[in-house]
Amino acid sequence: MCGVVGIISGQKSVAGEIYDSLIHLQHRGQDAAGIMTYNERFHIKKGTGLIRDIFDEQNMSRLLGRVGIGHTRYPTVGGFSIEEAQPVFTHVPHGIAMAHNGNLVNYTELSKEVVEKDRRHINSSVDIEVILHIFAHALDQRKTQSNELTFFDEICNGVKTVFDRVDGAYSVVGSIMNRGMFVFRDPNGIRPLVKGKRENNDGTVDHIFASETTMFYSLGFTPIGNVEPGEVIWVEEDGTTHSRVLTKEQFTPCVFEYVYFARPDCIQNDVSVYRSRLRMGQNLAEKWKNEYPDIVPDIVIPAPSTANTSALSFANELGVRYSEGLYKNPFIGRTFIMPGNEERKKSVRYKLVPQEFEIRDKNVLIMDDSIVRGNTSREIVRMVREFGAKRVYFISACPPVKFPCYYGVDMPTRDELTAANQSVEEIREFMKVDVLMYQDIDGLKEAVTRKGDHNIDRPCMACLDGWYVNGGINEKKMDDLESQRLNERSKLK
Ligand code: SF4
Repeated sequence: MCGVVGIISGQKSVAGEIYDSLIHLQHRGQDAAGIMTYNERFHIKKGTGLIRDIFDEQNMSRLLGRVGIGHTRYPTVGGFSIEEAQPVFTHVPHGIAMAHNGNLVNYTELSKEVVEKDRRHINSSVDIEVILHIFAHALDQRKTQSNELTFFDEICNGVKTVFDRVDGAYSVVGSIMNRGMFVFRDPNGIRPLVKGKRENNDGTVDHIFASETTMFYSLGFTPIGNVEPGEVIWVEEDGTTHSRVLTKEQFTPCVFEYVYFARPDCIQNDVSVYRSRLRMGQNLAEKWKNEYPDIVPDIVIPAPSTANTSALSFANELGVRYSEGLYKNPFIGRTFIMPGNEERKKSVRYKLVPQEFEIRDKNVLIMDDSIVRGNTSREIVRMVREFGAKRVYFISACPPVKFPCYYGVDMPTRDELTAANQSVEEIREFMKVDVLMYQDIDGLKEAVTRKGDHNIDRPCMACLDGWYVNGGINEKKMDDLESQRLNERSKLK
């Protein structure tokens, strides 16, 4: 899961605001980041690590121009070197820069085609480079074939070629030298992309596109909705805006954005993440009352901090005290997006400290947003027991994660998913809890889609129900993608 942002201003340099935006997207990736702007040439700064460690006054001062894109990276395909950081660019045609959030299912086939058929050079193993070259190649071909198309028509043709050839999930922000900024979103809208506007005192208008609305308020942008699935938007340097929906498929945004990834203060696909998490807690409380009417815990503790909101509404519905019984050190990275199981396990104890006065001699219910590998949850339970809990119940706002994600979230192999290989009872025993309860798929779906002026057909829940909206995922494809992922990991050791 990555974070992307693009800003085009009618008035001023954008690098500072792209930096601020990336800070507001840091939770979406902590592995690497980059900013690319242009005035008469491209200016780029990329690095590995946290945003505040990559950029400083000196390198920011080089990032000139009123058009720029930024990216914070969480690895899905590709390794950890600087070459794998985004944005990426090509000189031909025009000079095009791109960054994306997502993952390509047919990356291996496409990267071969791009080199052998399109005769373009790929300089990394990051999947946006494939999208970049497919788009650039299509634009280049069109340029030599017809003079009657507008530049926006040419961009639409380039994006349509991407839609036709690329299988997967992708939300893309890009810029074209001395022309402006474009964005597009895959035809199913799996990965998020929101848009906003800001009027300047000289009458010019600034545009922002980003993975989340989290930076809009502090930068003074007004949210104006989403880039629609299958839509391309082109903003010229003078602010003239064009948009076209090229392909309409089922709108299936990622449910995990609501469960875990997105910041709770953001609106995605016209649904408040915060409100959806409250509803997850309510729905789970209903289920608890039906299944365990005689068990009333003394306190409800969230596994901080993504589960805080759902745990709050769960506790309210049950009439039980909500307690911050696990203190989270905010200066340690999220365990889910740290590579490698050992680092993940080790980080739980650095990151979370149980509060003994809240826990000792109590029947404690812990709520987490999800259980993916199970190791973190088991460690949390162990810690709470060490601090004197009488009984420990564990609930998950998300149903069992049974299938890998091929659309940009790091849960790639079935072997690593605890619910892919074990029953709920086996997981309960593994976690050593008195009760383990998961949300139902219908309960989660209802929590996301109950309210909001949205046009979601159904959320993507492929990691929960195995229904991959793009098709083309069979046993063989799963095996191939899993061994590709394992190969990449082994290179990192
Ligand atoms: Fe999100 Fe799961 Fe779909 Fe991946 S498979 S996009 S994590 S809902």
